Amino acid sequence: MSETKQSTAETFEFRAEMKQLLHLIIHSLYTHEEIFLRELISNASDALNKIRFRMLTDRDVVDADAERRIDIKLDKNTNTLILTDTGIGMSRDDLMSKIGTVASSGTVDFVTELKKKGGPVDAQLIGQFGVGFYSAYMVADEITIDTRHADPDSQGLRWASDGTGSFTIEETDRTERGTTITLHLKEDKGEFAEEWRVKQIIKKYSNFVDFSIHVEGEEVNTVDALWHKSKTDVTEEQLTEFYKFVSGDFEEPLGHLQVNIEGRISFKSLLFIPKKAPRGLYQEDYNYGVHLYSTKVFIQDDAKNLLPEYARFVKGVVDTEDLPLNVSREVTQASPVLAKIRKVLTTKILGMLKEWSVEESDRYDTFFREFGALFKSGLQTEFEHRDEMIELFRFESTAKDAGDYVSLEQYVDRMQSGQKEIYYVLAESRTGAELNPNLEYFKANDLEVLLMVEPVDAFIVPGMPKYKDFELKSVETADLDLQKDKKKKKGAPTKQASKKIIDRFKSILADRVEDVKASDRLVDSAATLVVGKAGMDSQMERMMKMMDENFEGSKKVLELNLQHTLIKNLIALGKDEKNDGLIETAVLQIFEGAMLAEGSLTTPQEFVRRMTDIMIEATGKDN
Ligand code: ADP
Ligand code: MG
Repeated sequence: MSETKQSTAETFEFRAEMKQLLHLIIHSLYTHEEIFLRELISNASDALNKIRFRMLTDRDVVDADAERRIDIKLDKNTNTLILTDTGIGMSRDDLMSKIGTVASSGTVDFVTELKKKGGPVDAQLIGQFGVGFYSAYMVADEITIDTRHADPDSQGLRWASDGTGSFTIEETDRTERGTTITLHLKEDKGEFAEEWRVKQIIKKYSNFVDFSIHVEGEEVNTVDALWHKSKTDVTEEQLTEFYKFVSGDFEEPLGHLQVNIEGRISFKSLLFIPKKAPRGLYQEDYNYGVHLYSTKVFIQDDAKNLLPEYARFVKGVVDTEDLPLNVSREVTQASPVLAKIRKVLTTKILGMLKEWSVEESDRYDTFFREFGALFKSGLQTEFEHRDEMIELFRFESTAKDAGDYVSLEQYVDRMQSGQKEIYYVLAESRTGAELNPNLEYFKANDLEVLLMVEPVDAFIVPGMPKYKDFELKSVETADLDLQKDKKKKKGAPTKQASKKIIDRFKSILADRVEDVKASDRLVDSAATLVVGKAGMDSQMERMMKMMDENFEGSKKVLELNLQHTLIKNLIALGKDEKNDGLIETAVLQIFEGAMLAEGSLTTPQEFVRRMTDIMIEATGKDN
């Protein structure tokens, strides 16, 4: 430490607005007051960058060979934190003009306003509003700056102030280039003289500063700013290490993406997709995992606007030169710079997923299994990349085993000649989908059907009515344009008999159905409910009911399999009036049975009572 040459300290008054600001800083209560250290390290890093730049062309500076680094010394006994950098240092003029005057009047207004609101102030805001150096007065009651500028003829100087009314400047015999800032900590801020605490803060906010930071001689920021390196200089191990650091994950990532953009907007980014969905991914207070840096200085760790919501599983870092450090969180969030970065990153992420889907389908399927539902939900908010997203969607299918995926493209490639539509069934599970009687025709005719078994599917299907030239059609949709190879099936009843039994169903069910029709799509089942002209797919209807208990579903069309033994039996029974009671019971049972199968029978008591009657009859026959 340098000695004072002689006691020729000059005293200067702070300007009125500085006094006001300092008063607020000193007397407010804070959350996150630890950010003062980030501000001091950020200043040191700036100073180191300046000397590095100058020395590219001019080596005639003080201590030309000094290592560029930051050193922090702590003393619990005297309650001090001393931060030294070998940066460019400050001249008298710097101390007067740069340290002496900060804070635009806007900043003062802002802080005043904040204080009026009462309660503790978030120091993040103070730091980001350009108070920088002065934020140290949140924790210190006396600050000294010992400095010597890099110019060879510079003079050692000491600035000192308790942050109230004035500061002093005096000459010293400091010989080393750079700056030493000594904080005498307030009595209750002793934690900032604790080694573990200081290290913790550095790891949190300044881990990727491009110069080594030493606390009590030990290097603390061991993780490199990987995203500043060229892709070829980064090893797989480093990537994994870094991923674990930013994500808190213990596993290695599923993949990563390094982006380096220079132009009207410049940024570097290193992003990761985890193997497993991060905890709380679907909860409201989920912490977005992309950390925002401004030229290697940490700004915030949950930058929401850098990625679309449906990509919120992405972890990593974005570092841009185009965002000033001293902007508030609010300003940052709304910044057009972030909007541009987001646009680029969205394109890049979709591009990477596309590449996986084509070249590494296992990796892609792993991704989709874990994040597919969230990704699909993006269809409701993403307009620019809709088509790319739809290409990336995957579904289970009747053509594949459970757990295997197909894309719409693969579906279309496999379509039968003459098939004009893409068929799907919405269901709660694969088993539920496969047992849907409406699937029977498709199975019998080898027509592939997409099994949409994710809850989100019911919401996205209306958003993609077509893929290429093919309409997506629910197997429940009433007027399916089925292949017209309707040869009269073996054992079908006559036209007249058919009409008669259909009319019988109609009169018994009356307004409980929209219509009753002969079915083309049933093979094994006797009856099924399908969607009427204006109706909704039953699964979708169920989702609507879950969200709105007053939601009124539309009436369904009951389709009958006229070749089915049960229906043929009813036709036969119909010839004798004495069977009317049994026929009525059977019709109601068939109808409610179809409702039960699709999950819409809310009061099964009547159904069970009728079934009991029928079983009594059947079991009592031979007694
Ligand atoms: P900002 O960093 O946004 O300019 P600060 O209040 O943090 O605002 O710092 C004010 C100025 O003081 C800096 O711009 C810089 O010129 C000077 N300064 C602060 N710390 C140092 C340092 N360690 N070395 C050299 N200059 C410094
Ligand atoms: Mg600063």
